[in-house]
Amino acid sequence: MTNLYQHFRAGWSDPARPLMHTDDGRTVTYGDLDGFTAAFGAALTAAGVKKGDRVAVQVEKTPEAVLLYLACQRVGAVYLPLNTAYTLSELEYFLSDAEPVAMVCRPKDEGDIADLCRRLGVPNVFTLGTGEGSLLDAVGNADAGAFADEKVAEDDLAAILYTSGTTGRSKGAMLTRRGLQSNAEALADAWRFTPDDVLLHALPIFHIHGLFVAINTVLASGASMIFQARFDPTAVIGALPRATAMMGVPTFYVRLLAEDGFTRDVAGHMRLFVSGSAPLLEETFRAFEARTGHRILERYGMTETGMNTSNPYDGDRRPGTVGFPLPGVSVRVAAEDGTVLGRDEVGVLEVKGPNVFAGYWRMPEKTAEEFRPDGWFITGDVGKIDADGYVHIVGRSKDMIISGGYNVYPKEIETVIDDMDGIGESAVIGVPHSDFGEGVVAVVVPESGGQAPAEADIIAAARKHLAGYKAPKKVFFVDALPRNTMGKVQKAELRKRFAGAFD
Ligand code: ATP
Ligand code: MG
Repeated sequence: MTNLYQHFRAGWSDPARPLMHTDDGRTVTYGDLDGFTAAFGAALTAAGVKKGDRVAVQVEKTPEAVLLYLACQRVGAVYLPLNTAYTLSELEYFLSDAEPVAMVCRPKDEGDIADLCRRLGVPNVFTLGTGEGSLLDAVGNADAGAFADEKVAEDDLAAILYTSGTTGRSKGAMLTRRGLQSNAEALADAWRFTPDDVLLHALPIFHIHGLFVAINTVLASGASMIFQARFDPTAVIGALPRATAMMGVPTFYVRLLAEDGFTRDVAGHMRLFVSGSAPLLEETFRAFEARTGHRILERYGMTETGMNTSNPYDGDRRPGTVGFPLPGVSVRVAAEDGTVLGRDEVGVLEVKGPNVFAGYWRMPEKTAEEFRPDGWFITGDVGKIDADGYVHIVGRSKDMIISGGYNVYPKEIETVIDDMDGIGESAVIGVPHSDFGEGVVAVVVPESGGQAPAEADIIAAARKHLAGYKAPKKVFFVDALPRNTMGKVQKAELRKRFAGAFD
């Protein structure tokens, strides 16, 4: 009945070991954590936060945010981080849905958020600043010595994490203590983390990737982090010689490759680069290997499950694949009706294991829809498992196009277009078409400094490599694809923008 903090703590052997170094020269050691998180825990308890209560958090990326996350685990509270880009009206949805007992925000938002919380009946609003009434003020006044850890069972909730909202409204995924622990341990093991590792952390910490994949893997292995407030290629290049591992979204690697200062020498001290959250282009994988000698390790996961698959640490990391199921995690491919498919057959990826969430917060019907009767979670990602056991992702079921009754997988067409000279990247979508139901449209970003091919050439190239019904009927050129903070292409936005393409 230990909580997640106590569980991780039992594995730490050196109190002098730094957990994190920040950009502004601060260091928090493992030895600091007991006292700091007890003080945060005491402040939360004094504010009336009890086991099972939600603590909503929309703050900058600082060590205090990590201490707050750990304190919630010690109190048995449910940590609920929110994207720093969410506006007040978006916050209204999350706060009325989650009904937190406390909301922790940035000092600049205090007035607006306090008004909102008063209206919604959220009893406590704190800033993570230092002034009077702030959380740090309460922490300073709290009786840390009297703090006692709450007992937490494996099935108890450790966090509610809202999905990114790529395919629709964000859903609150209820993550259990077991789910977080098992995934952190599977990753620390699969990626060979030890106390000697230094993870370069430049991801946001309101998302599964930067929060649980990165921070929990570090905590599960007693490693250190260089904790950068945001991704800045120059700062990353400056810190890499002191790091051993980095986790990033594909855009991080694309942006690093655009820097002349990103050299083989700079990456010489590193043992591992991990990519996820969005597909890593094979071209990026190849260019990265040519520049640094490192083969980026791509893995696949989602808010609801944590990480499901990973390319091997030892063994062949294959670009365009997300590797094998992690130990303890099972992955299968099924047809819409639930029939399990064989090797190389394309269908929906389904997952089972201790990493899988306990359901969507207050959405029992949605939860029931996304699980098979035998307990497998339907991810909504479409893919296949090849003859060697590597999992491939070809897209999301919601992005599949049905044109003239045929299923069209956008990735197949994107791959052909991306291979053409003069193309930076592309997104293929389906938009309403009076004859075909949906018509295939390609949205193309020309290569910077290159000469983009003409629309007719792109359509001809697709026709040459693919069945005629898959070829785009129209091509649009744009400067950049719309992406969220995790680098995910927002296809719903593109579908809206080009909805009238066949009017
Ligand atoms: P929502 O569920 O609200 O529509 P979302 O699915 O984007 O949003 P997340 O949980 O942040 O929210 O993202 C998980 C998704 O990211 C996966 O389901 C998958 O589609 C995608 N993804 C993650 N890793 C990879 C990868 N390596 N390659 C391709 N896609 C990936
Ligand atoms: Mg999703």
